[in-house]
Amino acid sequence: VRIAPIELKRSGNLGQLYLLCFRDISELRRLDQMRSDFVANASHELRTPLASLRGFIETLQGPAKSDPKAHERFLSIMLDQSTRMSRLVDDLLSLSRLELKANVAPECKVDLVPLLSHVRDSLVPLAEELGVEINLHLPDVPVEVTGDRDELVQVFENLMENACKYGQEGERVDVYLKAAEARPVEVTVVDHGPGIPSEHVPRLTERFYRVSVADSRSKKGTGLGLAIVKHILTRHRARLIVTSEVGKGSQFTVRF
Ligand code: ADP
Repeated sequence: VRIAPIELKRSGNLGQLYLLCFRDISELRRLDQMRSDFVANASHELRTPLASLRGFIETLQGPAKSDPKAHERFLSIMLDQSTRMSRLVDDLLSLSRLELKANVAPECKVDLVPLLSHVRDSLVPLAEELGVEINLHLPDVPVEVTGDRDELVQVFENLMENACKYGQEGERVDVYLKAAEARPVEVTVVDHGPGIPSEHVPRLTERFYRVSVADSRSKKGTGLGLAIVKHILTRHRARLIVTSEVGKGSQFTVRF
């Protein structure tokens, strides 16, 4: 609140008048809170693997110094932890780069048919490791959208990778590309896994949000993937629509 006394020349016997100016800063406060939550979350996520690395280094220097079996096991855990940190830093960098160009709409023509095949091929090793098959259902004709090829690759990599990781029990992931005259282009990634309880669905694209079902938590991830997807789609004037049924699976649709 700002209070400014006003002098009125001909105020007669009204006395002194005051002008009260109110400015609603709740949105600013909310953004500020979000920013500090984000920094706290990012620091926490980095501190955990760092503390673990330090613990293993100390053990290797001390009690396990001359135990070759422990060396092998600890080094492999340390490699996993550093991979996790690299993934987190890559995701954080992606998010900040996207924030910088949030107001610039991408302008290239991108054919989604070869793009989706490329993403599927790049995920075959992971899918095989998890015992999942990714089936593409694509039209025979090109389906073009306006966008940034690398960013769209990132979107579909995230969605297909999540479908493989979290929908693993279903052993099958289906990807549909629908395009018809005068209708929006849609890509839907369907898994047949355990699904997501409805109370979590609206929060999936929040940074660091992970569904706290024990099984889902045990999968490797940073909790930033869908936040990145949302940022990219906003730049592309596209939407992410999530439907899920517990026990049946989930559908993530990108509507351009
Ligand atoms: P993460 O790095 O944890 O995979 P994401 O932002 O990509 O982060 O996803 C956020 C959370 O949403 C995941 O941790 C998981 O709990 C849930 N999730 C995402 N995709 C699926 C899916 N296809 N089936 C079930 N849960 C999912």
